[in-house]
Amino acid sequence: MKLRGGYNIFLQGRPGSTIKAMPEPKTLYLPLSSKRFRFSAIHVADGQDVALGDVLATDPNNYDVPLLAPRAGSVRLGQVEDTVVLENIAKSQEYADTNGRMEEVQHVERTFGAAGAQRRRLMMLGAWQFLHEAHSGRLPDPLGTPQAVLVSTLSLEPFTARGDVQLQARLLNFTRGLEHLQSLLEYQPIYFVLPDIKSEFASIVRNHIRGYASVKMVELPLTYPYDDFAVLARSLGLSSGNGPVWALRTEGVLAVDRALTAGKPCVTRIISIGGTGVVSPGHLRVVSGYPLKCITDKHVFEPHPRIINGGIMTGEAFGPGALGIDTECRGITVLPELQEREFLGFMRPGSERSSYWPCFLSSMVQRFAERLTTAMRGERRPCISCNACEEVCPAGISPHLIHKYLYRDLVEEAAAARVDLCVECGLCSYVCPSKIDLRAQFVEAKNGIAREKAEMLETKARQESTEEVNA
Ligand code: SF4
Ligand code: SF4
Repeated sequence: MKLRGGYNIFLQGRPGSTIKAMPEPKTLYLPLSSKRFRFSAIHVADGQDVALGDVLATDPNNYDVPLLAPRAGSVRLGQVEDTVVLENIAKSQEYADTNGRMEEVQHVERTFGAAGAQRRRLMMLGAWQFLHEAHSGRLPDPLGTPQAVLVSTLSLEPFTARGDVQLQARLLNFTRGLEHLQSLLEYQPIYFVLPDIKSEFASIVRNHIRGYASVKMVELPLTYPYDDFAVLARSLGLSSGNGPVWALRTEGVLAVDRALTAGKPCVTRIISIGGTGVVSPGHLRVVSGYPLKCITDKHVFEPHPRIINGGIMTGEAFGPGALGIDTECRGITVLPELQEREFLGFMRPGSERSSYWPCFLSSMVQRFAERLTTAMRGERRPCISCNACEEVCPAGISPHLIHKYLYRDLVEEAAAARVDLCVECGLCSYVCPSKIDLRAQFVEAKNGIAREKAEMLETKARQESTEEVNA
């Protein structure tokens, strides 16, 4: 497997392997938006009592993926913007298929066969949301046919939940999940990605999956962002032109097992809590909607923290209105927010600061984990054409060149330089000595180009249908 770029990021505050259970919440705050989903179709009314697993809302632009009630309780709408609030959380948390939803599965089975019915079941029980289309990052079509499936046990972005921790004492569930995944496919291969295929863990898994001819083990170096699904798909030669590639992480395989073996909704996640502003970085078992304040009160010691939904490379700071954990949250990162501007910080390359470039005194001492803050080591500066961004870019594009095009509003040139191949890993922004937020610029450009393309296709389709009517 050929991989290019990447960088080993060594920072203090990496989550340890302990999993702490949080106390049962009194109220849940379920955000109606997350990174990929917008649950705009509300299925419940204000004041309605719901059971665990009931559908609160769905996303009409993502195959009606549901937002499930993680606990039984009473719904409050309109109390908090863009959020479903669940109050009076009930003590008994038995899941019951009260809405006749399994009848719908039988209907799908008659139309699309057993594999179709299983995929529908995964969707209804909240497990399908753990799947990604590797190249686009979107939710895959549950009735589509993939060319291959990628399963990764790795999580290389600093501070996000670790696959080995999520797997603790659940190896049987994991291998059973792989078996279920195989039953959803016809002959397509499943690539199982591990850091070391000769390790003890790999041989245990190999023994469990001995009979699964379609599962192939793939070794991956522990360098960010080789766990990115688009990077993985490209390095395995799985081009988007040959059909979608489904991809999921450890917790996704465990969710598949939970939904198809136990028939229960997947509403609990093991997320990380890490960063230099946390008392003891580790993992937490929480349901979606869990109050953010309960977590930060218990784990954050920094008086001025920046609290990020996800890791430092791809996460976004929680907004002031964010009250609960969304359904896609993989971790919470807490960094000390710098209170004073660090004037000309880049001119003081001391021994306690590490850098991609060996220009800091720290390159002369042994490798150490740096205490990260939100400091940028001085203000933003113009590009100095050092080429660091190009060296680390796993997509093989020239971030500095694209940055220069976009800076001058030359969007067509940026498109020709293949900004669309950017996997949004953020590594270019991280290593850039001028602290240019290249990733944010590329995400915006990609969205703009995609919107423009969609509008052009729509106009073309409208023109063709008008011509047909007139003919
Ligand atoms: S250009 Fe995109 S893929 Fe390349 S390093 Fe930057 S964010 Fe990552
Ligand atoms: S890393 Fe930053 S300064 Fe260096 S070439 Fe890239 S954009 Fe320019």
